[in-house]
Amino acid sequence: MLNARLTKEIDKAVNLILSAEHVMAMTGAGISVESGIPPFRGPGGLWTKYGEPPMNGYDLFLQDPKKAWQERLSPSGPSKEMWRALDQAEPNVSHLALVELERIGILKAVITQNVDNLHRRAGSHELIEIHGNYTMVRCIQCQIRIPAAEVPLKILPPKCPQCEGILKSDTVSFGEPIPKDALDRCYAETQLCDCMLVVGTSSTVYPAAAFPLAVSEKHGTLIEINLYESELTASCTLSLRGSSAFILEALVESVGSRRN
Ligand SMILES: [Zn+2]
Repeated sequence: MLNARLTKEIDKAVNLILSAEHVMAMTGAGISVESGIPPFRGPGGLWTKYGEPPMNGYDLFLQDPKKAWQERLSPSGPSKEMWRALDQAEPNVSHLALVELERIGILKAVITQNVDNLHRRAGSHELIEIHGNYTMVRCIQCQIRIPAAEVPLKILPPKCPQCEGILKSDTVSFGEPIPKDALDRCYAETQLCDCMLVVGTSSTVYPAAAFPLAVSEKHGTLIEINLYESELTASCTLSLRGSSAFILEALVESVGSRRN
């Protein structure tokens, strides 16, 4: 049950959304927790449990791509836990609510920091996976992406069928630049955006954190949906505290009925 205060705030959010021209969403780990995917930081977080991973993952990959692939194919510790969770996860109400918001023409794009493929599986079309997608591999030379399941793994590291470059998981490692195509789309969408829903992310990891701030700087509307207060809260027009599933479902229902 939504409490009275939250109901009022959702009403406000609906007004803001309906008066905007180019609504976007940016999502993070919080939106997938209800799909069984553990967050990295905070209570129950993988890194809280296992410690922070090395911050030079991309350098380690470049130094020894074969070893990095071997580790990926027989993961241990936090990677093992994460792969298992990813393989078992299903999209939840929050992912579906964003699909509905796109279907009715309100939501123009989603930037996600998640690699879990759940927005895509739920049916989001205009989707920018800024940290990649765990079901894909990407050539570090020509950047083409191929479904991981289609890549022969007899010889490691696998090579790009197009340019013979080394294939790497599409998920962006620490120290790895964000793929240019994804970043360019983020900038283009953010430039048009006058209302951004920031869902389940504390928005501290750059460059993703820069997008909501850019919207706020040009006096656009920022609506935060998060269980906890974040560093972004002070810049938000409205902060809705609670589970993104409850809030997004109520919000999208209300947007849908008000538009008719
Ligand atoms: Zn290539």
